[in-house]
Amino acid sequence: QAFQTINERDDRIQAYLTLDEEAAQHKAAALDKKMASGEARGLLFGLPAGIKDNIVTEGLRTTCASQFLRNYDPIYNATVMEKLQLADSVTLGKLNMDEFAMGGSNENSSFMPVRNPWNLDYVPGGSSGGSAAAVAAGEAYFTLGSDTGGSIRQPASYCGVVGLKPTYGLVSRFGLVAFASSLDQIGPITKNVEDSAYVLQAIAGYDEKDSTSAKVDIPDYISSLTGDIKGLKIAVPSEYIGEGVDAAVKESIMSALKVLEGLGAEWEEVSLPYTEYAVATYYLLASSEASSNLARFDGVRYGVRAENPGNLLELYHQSRSEGFGPEVKRRIMLGTYALSSGYYDAYYLKAQKVRTLIKQDFDNVFAKYDVIVGPTAPTTAFKLGSQVNDPLTMYLNDILTIPVSLAGVPAISVPCGFVSGLPVGMQIIGKAFDEQTVLRVAHAFE
Ligand code: GLN
Repeated sequence: QAFQTINERDDRIQAYLTLDEEAAQHKAAALDKKMASGEARGLLFGLPAGIKDNIVTEGLRTTCASQFLRNYDPIYNATVMEKLQLADSVTLGKLNMDEFAMGGSNENSSFMPVRNPWNLDYVPGGSSGGSAAAVAAGEAYFTLGSDTGGSIRQPASYCGVVGLKPTYGLVSRFGLVAFASSLDQIGPITKNVEDSAYVLQAIAGYDEKDSTSAKVDIPDYISSLTGDIKGLKIAVPSEYIGEGVDAAVKESIMSALKVLEGLGAEWEEVSLPYTEYAVATYYLLASSEASSNLARFDGVRYGVRAENPGNLLELYHQSRSEGFGPEVKRRIMLGTYALSSGYYDAYYLKAQKVRTLIKQDFDNVFAKYDVIVGPTAPTTAFKLGSQVNDPLTMYLNDILTIPVSLAGVPAISVPCGFVSGLPVGMQIIGKAFDEQTVLRVAHAFE
């Protein structure tokens, strides 16, 4: 049935890059048997899932929406895939994205752009645009995305669905094709907050295969959805509702705050003064890490190899010139420059220091408040093609999600209204490893 919906809708939405119908039918048959035998069922029993195409899946093509990996069939599973397997969910296929997760509109996919299910002339956001659009269009029950600077939350906001970026280290990154390793996190995109809690429950936890995986006890996320937020202290950063944020988006957030107030929470305006430096800091750090991570794509080990190179250097050069798209090349150049000797101190090191200041902004506010609330993005979805030639404008769409990524704390985007027929998302940001409170507030609001 899931495939029927996909077949009916996906030629317009273009959320999927690869479908895996045969394996899904097999899995469904195995689950039928399991049910008949009375064996214990997994947490996500029978739920059809779509997976962002930068999460490696054994034997199932994993392209990162790049020409470089258009023929790459991994020989192992990401840890999250093993966990979904244990939870008895059914993988439908792999979802379209911006190439190597670099982008905010899905127009950087080297195969085809994804379209926003609410209006096909608009972008779904990115880079997990396929993951958000698939849930919004009913083409998967839930999906996994990845978030480096906003790539789960921003598309969830544009597509009117729920997207959760967990605390850095809560979900294993083993088998997630690395973009910026100190920022990347995998998380769920779902129709509602309860489903988000279920999927997080299934995928969270320490993994010895990821050296940055956190050794923390995993609480019961599902039972934290009590509906009770009386006395909760909410901080609303003035930087998140000020200049640059669309007036209608701000209005939606203000009405949402009234709803939270009605539920017994209190809110006050605060300041995160280093917000204005977050985008510059992120693009230096993320690009630096990307330039190092993407060095592994040399035409020898993974994916496509250039034909007839004269020597080894030409092999590298030709494979990389042909394999990477323009945005990926831009980031590699920027990152290589920022890391090069003579510029390292002025750019990379400086950016690391500012990152600490941004994190301290959050620490200061969380000393007094339970959560921080604001819009997920300054505007609703924009028209396809309207920003592709303007990377700086495109980068600024992430101004409200990037600081959270730099601080490493968890945040969820939940739908909170519409402007001209397009969804608005509210971002609820929590203390490190306090997904329970984030989910509880989102659930009470929804
Ligand atoms: N849009 C941001 C970027 O292009 C965020 C991407 C992401 O979170 N993967 O880097």
